Amino acid sequence: MTGADLAKLNVGGTNYVTTHDTLRESVYLTTLIDGEWDEQTSDEIFIDRDGFLFRFILLYLRTGDFEIERCYLKSLKNEADFYGIPALSNKIDKIMDTKEEVLYQLLTEEQFNSSTNHTIDPFLLPSYIGRVKAIPFQLISSISCLRKVYHCPREIFVHKESYRCGYKCNRFPVSSDYQAHTYEDVKLYLVRFNTSGDV
Ligand SMILES: [Zn+2]
Repeated sequence: MTGADLAKLNVGGTNYVTTHDTLRESVYLTTLIDGEWDEQTSDEIFIDRDGFLFRFILLYLRTGDFEIERCYLKSLKNEADFYGIPALSNKIDKIMDTKEEVLYQLLTEEQFNSSTNHTIDPFLLPSYIGRVKAIPFQLISSISCLRKVYHCPREIFVHKESYRCGYKCNRFPVSSDYQAHTYEDVKLYLVRFNTSGDV
């Protein structure tokens, strides 16, 4: 490769070195390297645009793909339009049209520990009923709290709340240390599901 094939770009203060061929998909950059840029005066092309976003423009020109956080998509589209790369602009449009489904859920310790076979709460995401057996999630924080536990006087297991007890339970003779309610420590895990995958 000869020196002439290389393009040294200074985009808003950030330096990039690439080849002329890489820049050919961009109408704007093609015009620059073919015409306006006077190699005799300077070996560096200055472009007064955002240097951070250009990194993703260049990534796309080199590989045909890119990954960027969603909050930058709109700005990146502006850059794609500026540099004259319609294929990238269209690609960003498509990504922005797909809704990102993010879901937060509180899991019990048991659910959290069996994360590999945890099934998402169908009430929170009806479209996933029967389809999703395991979705990767990200732990946001864990919370320690007290859970109120009801005890049936007859110790009937399925009477988990006082309203489930009936006539017989209410008349049942109980010992002096019987407590209708106790509290137990539980740990809950706030997790974030990203059901659409990353951009
Ligand atoms: Zn009962």
